[in-house]
Amino acid sequence: MCECQNKETELSLATIAAQAGNHEDERGAVALPIYLSSNYRHPTLKEAINFDATKDYTYSRLSTPNRRAVEKTLAKLEGGTAAFAVSSGMAAVQLALSILETGDRLISLDDLYGGDFRYFDYLKQHAGIELDQWDGRSIAELVAKLTPKTRIVWLETPSNPTMKEIDIQAVAAAVHEYDPQIKVIVDNTFYTPIYQRPLLKGADVVIHSATKYLSGHNDLLGGAVVVKDEKLTQAYYDYYITTGDTLDSFDSWLLLRSLKTLKVRMAQHTKNAQAVVEYLKQALEVEKVLYPGKGGMISFYLKEADQVERLLDHVKVITFAESLGGIESLITIPYYQTHADVSVEQRQRLGITPKLLRLSVGLEDAADLIADIKQALAATR
Ligand SMILES: *Cc1c(COP(=O)(O)O)cnc(C)c1O
Repeated sequence: MCECQNKETELSLATIAAQAGNHEDERGAVALPIYLSSNYRHPTLKEAINFDATKDYTYSRLSTPNRRAVEKTLAKLEGGTAAFAVSSGMAAVQLALSILETGDRLISLDDLYGGDFRYFDYLKQHAGIELDQWDGRSIAELVAKLTPKTRIVWLETPSNPTMKEIDIQAVAAAVHEYDPQIKVIVDNTFYTPIYQRPLLKGADVVIHSATKYLSGHNDLLGGAVVVKDEKLTQAYYDYYITTGDTLDSFDSWLLLRSLKTLKVRMAQHTKNAQAVVEYLKQALEVEKVLYPGKGGMISFYLKEADQVERLLDHVKVITFAESLGGIESLITIPYYQTHADVSVEQRQRLGITPKLLRLSVGLEDAADLIADIKQALAATR
């Protein structure tokens, strides 16, 4: 954990990102070295007893210099006061939901990362959590679902994979008007703080799969939880150091290095995605394109289901693989992969069909990506 009540949030996001970890090392190293020690010497008994969890080090489950530097950077980027770097996006989901108590109600958007539903169902079965869903359309309908037992409202925007955009500010205002104690939690994996800072729009908690854009190189698994409230910070900290789903020093180092280029990467993902969307929109084989206008994620429907198999079999530059947000463009079929565990009925309702593909546009030359799709689509005829 870091606590970062700082004025530095006034720096621009590009500056915060570029300076990640600089001025952190005692010896003045500009690039923070990797600390692989699992434990740290106590200078004196007095200091051991008066241990300050935001500054000192004792044992690496609690903190390491690399993890703390990542957490400080993420807290600043998201406009929060504290952040927790964890071992995966799902570990971030778990940490964020750790405040639930038996009998509490969790209301979520109906279109989320598939693994979220799996974990929500686990909580229902093992912890007696009541679940409900909202389709993201009418705020009045969401408010009608709130009860005195409601503890969390869970959003992902733009949603995965149907790219619904939710007005975070309107949701947070309406939910907090009903009950300020309800926590609005936003999965900000797709947009990152470069395009959206939910805490500044009234959300209470932001989570990330850092495996995606934050790391951006398809080379690590990580997650983050960012908060702005002191009581919530303490509750998460207690759970975090007890369960130990922490991000290790090496992956923290890699993530910190990646964060430095987050802003330029996001800008280029958007440019490339916009070019690919223009092409897809006029391609004869494509029925419909879902793209919220920024970011690197595109979903699109092909006209015929059998074109899908041939397209996936013929891409050469783009890789047929799960995950997203990296340098390398990836294409997946949510129906069979990321959302396979969502009930058939719900997939149907959301439009997650076997004709829907999800493309994570990378940082290759857009012309090469378009040529690749073109030749793969031609192979579908
Ligand atoms: C991938 C993903 C997750 C889960 O993260 P992992 O790092 O795979 O555990 C959660 N939310 C979203 C939006 C994701 O894309």
